[in-house]
Amino acid sequence: MLARYAPSPSGRMHRGNARTALLAWLQARAVGGEIVLRIEDLDRDRCRPEFESALRVDLEWLGLDWDREQQRQSERGAIYDEAIRRLDAGGRLYPCFCTRAEVRAASAPHGPEPVYPGTCRDLSAAAWAARLAAGRRPALRLRVEPETVAFEDLVLGSTELDVAALGDFVVRRADGLHAYQLAVVVDDGAAGVTHVLRGDDLLPSTPRQIVLHRLLALPPPQYAHVPLLYALDGERLAKRHGAETIASLRDAGATPAAVVGALAASVGLVAEGTVAGPSELIAAYGAHPGRLGRA
Ligand SMILES: [Zn+2]
Repeated sequence: MLARYAPSPSGRMHRGNARTALLAWLQARAVGGEIVLRIEDLDRDRCRPEFESALRVDLEWLGLDWDREQQRQSERGAIYDEAIRRLDAGGRLYPCFCTRAEVRAASAPHGPEPVYPGTCRDLSAAAWAARLAAGRRPALRLRVEPETVAFEDLVLGSTELDVAALGDFVVRRADGLHAYQLAVVVDDGAAGVTHVLRGDDLLPSTPRQIVLHRLLALPPPQYAHVPLLYALDGERLAKRHGAETIASLRDAGATPAAVVGALAASVGLVAEGTVAGPSELIAAYGAHPGRLGRA
């Protein structure tokens, strides 16, 4: 059993990130499993080395250890390119010349994410050449066939999602950067990750990732999507809630056990006010994340 932490060093760790890490730690340690740390720093504009150092400090301060580390995503471009070659050899990729604004304009005006309408799916060779000649550089998209992807989520139970609902998706951007969906699948496969516990905001990505696992002949992990932690004002916990970072709690004099106990209480593992380190929570957690309450 191998779980993972996959933090993005684009800001300071807040309570929501810390709670996900705590639950991944409990999921692994409750059954004697191991944890790999992977720094997800594909977005070079937002990720910074000082945030990575701070993440490590915060994890260690909370008592959330790990057994090994995987290379940073920013160091793994050649490995992602190899996966792109394999997908392309299978005939699943096509170049897409649309800009973000064009995709937004052409897609139905609902939902949090624009749905790619398939504009470049069957572009003729002449149209392709004309766009290249005009200096446009293509992204690479994966051709998604209509399919209901079913999986057993350890928190949500039997889940079925339409993988084509959001359209064909990008695996490499026009600027050459590899897409999150591709990197995550390749990395989890390479590390041998068996269990992925993450916020349920990533649920729409899961059918896409399961399809990529299949196309790359990598066994998909067991997923557990946990409810996101919301701030007291009901807003999704983002980095703008500066007062909710682990560092600010530490600076205000909180002990690691007080913070960990409060995170565990927020999913109903223990009573409010419990002060406990991670290892003291293993018994309360049991061996299964399925009964984590909605916070
Ligand atoms: Zn396109």
